[in-house]
Amino acid sequence: MSRIALVLTLLVAVLAATGLIIKPVMIHDQSYIASWSLLLAVSLGQAAWYWRGVRLSAVCLAPVLAVLLLGLASYLLPEGLIPYATLEHWAARLPGVSGIDSLRPPLIELFVLLALAGGVLGRTRASLATPLLQSLSLLLLITELWLVLNGHTDSPQNLAGTPASMALMTLLLGAQFSGVVAGWRHTRPSILRSLLPSLALVLVTILVWHQQRLYEDRRLQAQMQEETDRLSEQLSNEVTAHLEAVRRFASFWSLLDVQPTATQWQRQAERYHRDFAYFLNIAYVEPDGTIRYVYPRDDANLAIVGINALDVNRPYIDALSRALREGEEGHTGVVPLLQGMPGMIYYLPIISDRTQQVTGAAAMVLSLPVLADQLYAATRLNREHNHMRLAVADNVIRDWPTAETPGPWTHDSVIALGRHELVVSLSASSAYLLAQQSRQPAASLSIGLLLAYLLYMVVFGHHRMSAQHTSMFRSNEELRREVRHRTQLQREVEWLAGHDELTLLPNRRLFLTTLQRERQQRPLAVLLCDIDHFKSINDQLGHQAGDEALRRFARVGALAIPADAVLARYGGEEFVVLLVGDDADNALEIAETLRQAVMHSGIEHADGRPMTVSVGVATHDDQTLVPEDLLHRADVALYRAKRNGRNRIETDA
Ligand code: GH3
Ligand code: MG
Ligand code: MG
Repeated sequence: MSRIALVLTLLVAVLAATGLIIKPVMIHDQSYIASWSLLLAVSLGQAAWYWRGVRLSAVCLAPVLAVLLLGLASYLLPEGLIPYATLEHWAARLPGVSGIDSLRPPLIELFVLLALAGGVLGRTRASLATPLLQSLSLLLLITELWLVLNGHTDSPQNLAGTPASMALMTLLLGAQFSGVVAGWRHTRPSILRSLLPSLALVLVTILVWHQQRLYEDRRLQAQMQEETDRLSEQLSNEVTAHLEAVRRFASFWSLLDVQPTATQWQRQAERYHRDFAYFLNIAYVEPDGTIRYVYPRDDANLAIVGINALDVNRPYIDALSRALREGEEGHTGVVPLLQGMPGMIYYLPIISDRTQQVTGAAAMVLSLPVLADQLYAATRLNREHNHMRLAVADNVIRDWPTAETPGPWTHDSVIALGRHELVVSLSASSAYLLAQQSRQPAASLSIGLLLAYLLYMVVFGHHRMSAQHTSMFRSNEELRREVRHRTQLQREVEWLAGHDELTLLPNRRLFLTTLQRERQQRPLAVLLCDIDHFKSINDQLGHQAGDEALRRFARVGALAIPADAVLARYGGEEFVVLLVGDDADNALEIAETLRQAVMHSGIEHADGRPMTVSVGVATHDDQTLVPEDLLHRADVALYRAKRNGRNRIETDA
């Protein structure tokens, strides 16, 4: 095992442990702690493998894998099966845990950690897809970096970790790779063959996941925007209804030709004030601008009675002048009210129906926070999960936060409020968004990566098997060739054992075997032939010519005797013929044919004399036969033929 691998792994473990000790003090990012704890556990498992072998690392990593798989399940299980709120609830019961995101790393990091832990358990084994797991880790880390650099982390779901955890994971991957790469030398072609399609599938999976995730985020954002717009429409309707009420109040006085009395004003204003609590006061202003009556009649309100409102500040003068001089609705826009809150003052002209003269104005002081509260109370908003805010320009009028962690998005919608715009902002909590979010992108990612893993295994297994098959086929072919060669040799050896190499005729041994086999046949004859004065051919024409003469004798002899007769070289320049079924006369006849054929064969001595042969014939017709006897008799006859002058035939009779 590589020493560098062990050192790097230990370095990661030490850095992860240090990060865990130092960081929680500064950063209270719970998912960060989950990632780093698991990273520390995986690096310890990897160190255990280098140090003590697989068994210890498996023991270390088994609980880590279980936690990682549980984390993955929490991303995948459909909302209908286990609601996000339940997961949050269970997680929050554990000491020091605020929610489910404290227990699980971001999705991409979770896969990286799974692949790294799988890589340790798979060791150098390419057949367990370790090369794919490591390449997968690298691709996911690159994806994570890309997400962070391109700001795609703006999602309710925690997608990528911190740059520090990414760096540590890359370091751990490097350590793992340097420890195992040597073990892949022998199977490199199979690894490359299976890595390519699997990594292509991984890439497609990551792209599909990313697209689905973006689509899902956009869908959620559109849903939230719709919710905001619906809310703002509802609020807008409320505002319009309230304005209508204000106008009704003013038009009521138009029916009277005279100015209202204090009692009339008080009675009518009381009713409106009761129904619309956000009107802090309702005052009657005389045509010259003097505030005549105010309701409710508390100390603060009574203090302004008798004051000429046209002597006060600008926005009030403009709005009031509009009502008193031009007989049109006027309002101050959003102003700080005396009551210490932002609000608006509406001035509604009271125009006599009969004379069409402005007989005064109704001033209605509207408190925006109180209006906002009333509007908020009237909305059908899920208050537990949504943070709502009402603002005019940059002035926040009211803010209703939730106890839950705020989500990443804020959706605005605008309501026209006179010249001003009332901005409704809605921000759903992360928990709410996560509960709404489809688990499909995470499921696609998991399934795609699993399929890539299986694809690797199948292609690798197939390629290894076909490689082994090819090498087996090759060695089989070699073996077959060897067997063929040996059989050929065997046949040659066997043939040589029974034949004479020079003349290609059966040799003495095969002849004797044949004779032994045929010894029951009757009649049986042997012709023992000896070339006459053969030595002189050797001496005068050379040994090679002697050899050639022997070869030619064999050919001539074979043609001269019947097809079923056996001609063999008996030794030196002696040949023997076995005749089965030929009696003495036939044998003599055949011997004569042979003698003649040799004499006329054209084989000559140095002086031009034809080469001749002497033949001793022995036949047998009795019951028992001793082959040696027969041959001996033929030999005796041959000897006689030699003695009697050669180039002749003698029988044993
Ligand atoms: P005879 O008529 O009495 O049979 O006389 P011969 O010369 O034929 O008999 P001898 O036995 O004296 O000589 C036989 C010779 O045949 C001796 C040997 O050198 C020769 N001879 C035996 N085998 C071979 C062979 O394979 N090639 C050649 N070139 N010569 C052979
Ligand atoms: Mg001889
Ligand atoms: Mg001879």
